[in-house]
Amino acid sequence: MLSHLLHLEGIESIVLESHTRKYIEERIRAGVLEQGTVDLMVNAGVGERLKREGLEHRGIGLRFSGRACRIDFQELIGRTITVYAQQEVIKDLVAARLAAGGQILFEAEAASLAGLDSPEPRIRYRHSGAEAEISCDFIAGCDGFHGVARAAVPKGALTLYERVYPFAWLGILAAAPPSSEEVTYSNHDRGFALSSMRSHELSRLYLQCDPDEDITNWSDVRVWEELHLRLAAQGARELTEGPVLQKGITPMRSFMIEPMQCGNLFLAGDSAHIVPPTGAKGLNLAAADVRVLALGLTEFYRTGRRDLLSKYSAICLRHAWKVQRFSWWMTSMLHQFPDDSGFDRKRQLAELDYLMSSRAAQQSLAENYVGLDVSLNL
Ligand SMILES: Cc1cc2nc3c(=O)[nH]c(=O)nc-3n(C[C@H](O)[C@H](O)[C@H](O)COP(=O)(O)OP(=O)(O)OC[C@H]3O[C@@H](n4cnc5c(N)ncnc54)[C@H](O)[C@@H]3O)c2cc1C
Repeated sequence: MLSHLLHLEGIESIVLESHTRKYIEERIRAGVLEQGTVDLMVNAGVGERLKREGLEHRGIGLRFSGRACRIDFQELIGRTITVYAQQEVIKDLVAARLAAGGQILFEAEAASLAGLDSPEPRIRYRHSGAEAEISCDFIAGCDGFHGVARAAVPKGALTLYERVYPFAWLGILAAAPPSSEEVTYSNHDRGFALSSMRSHELSRLYLQCDPDEDITNWSDVRVWEELHLRLAAQGARELTEGPVLQKGITPMRSFMIEPMQCGNLFLAGDSAHIVPPTGAKGLNLAAADVRVLALGLTEFYRTGRRDLLSKYSAICLRHAWKVQRFSWWMTSMLHQFPDDSGFDRKRQLAELDYLMSSRAAQQSLAENYVGLDVSLNL
C-alpha cells in the first residue's frame, strides 16, 4: 500500500518480500476493513474489486446470557465496515504495483539495516541465492512483528509496552455459508466465540482456547460442537457446518513500541504494534500508519520539509494507543479469564447489559469499531 501511494505521487520505491507471491496472496488472516481503509483503497484506485465483492456490514451481533443482540453502526453513526479478506487486498495491491512497473522483489529477505542516521541508509538482503544491498533515502519497516527493521534500532532507543493474554484463539476456515449475516461475538461461560466470514461461501470461526493448547486435541467434530454451544442464543440461527479447510491457533497479545521512527527508518504496522484481534484492527492500523507515512514522504519530496515526517511517530502512536485501548476493552469484555474469582464474570455481564441498554455506549463501540480518524494535528 505504501509503495502504491508513493507511486501515485511519483516517488520511487522497492518492496522486499521474503515470501513468494503465491504465499502472500493465499495467506488467510484479517478480513474486516474499516471505512477509512476502504476509502483509502478506493481513493488510491485499487478499490474496484473491493467495491464489487466486499460485503458491506452495517453492524455486528453480540451474544451473552443466551441473548442475541445487535449493534447497528449505520443507524448509530452512519458508517459501516466491509468484509474483504486480507489476501484479496494483497492481490489487488500486488497487481496494481506490477501493472505500473513497480519493483516488488519476492523471495528477497532483508538481512540487516545500516546507516539509519545517515542521509543514505542501506538494506542488505538475500535474493536468488545472492546477497545484495540497496541504498536509499528512507527505509519503511513494514516487515511485521518478526521482521528485522525493529531489531535494527539501537538498544535503548525504544520503549516496549506489552501485555500477553492468558488465552488464544483457535480459528477455522470452513467451506460453509456464513451462519450469521454479520460478524457475531459471543461471551459464553465456556469461553469466547466468534462467527465471521470471508465471502458468501466461506466462514471464519474462532474459539477461545488455552495459549498452549495442542491443536491435535481439536478434531473438526469437537470444534463444531463447541462452536454450537458457545454461539447458541434465543432466536439465533443454527450454525451451518461445512468442511474445515484450515485450522490454527493465534496467541493474543498487545504490544507497542515508542517511538516508531529512528533516523530515516520508519516502522509501520505489526513491526511497531500488535493488537489482540478482537477489535479486528491489525490490518487497519497498518493501513493508517502507511497513509501518514506516505503523506510525510510526499511533503518531503515536494518541498524538502520534514514537518510531517518528524511527527510521524507521535501522530501514529496517538491513534494506535486509542486502537489498542479499544482492542483491549473488547478482549476484556468478551473472554473468560482463567484466574477470575467470579468478580470479572459478573462485571462483564453487567458491562454487556449496560451496553445493550445505552445508546451512548453503543455509539462509542460503533465509532471505535468502524474506525477513528487519524488526526494529523498534534
Ligand atoms: C493468523 C492471523 C490472523 C489474523 N487475523 C486478523 C483479523 O481477523 N483481523 C485483523 O485486523 N488482523 C488480523 N491479523 C493481524 C493482521 O493480519 C496484521 O495486523 C497485518 O497483516 C499487519 O500488516 P503488516 O503489513 O504490518 O504485516 P504483515 O502483513 O505481516 O506483512 C509483513 C510482510 O513482511 C514480510 N517480511 C517479514 N520479514 C521480512 C524480511 N526480513 N525481509 C523481507 N520481508 C519480510 C512478511 O513475509 C510479510 O509479508 C491476524 C494475524 C494473524 C497472524
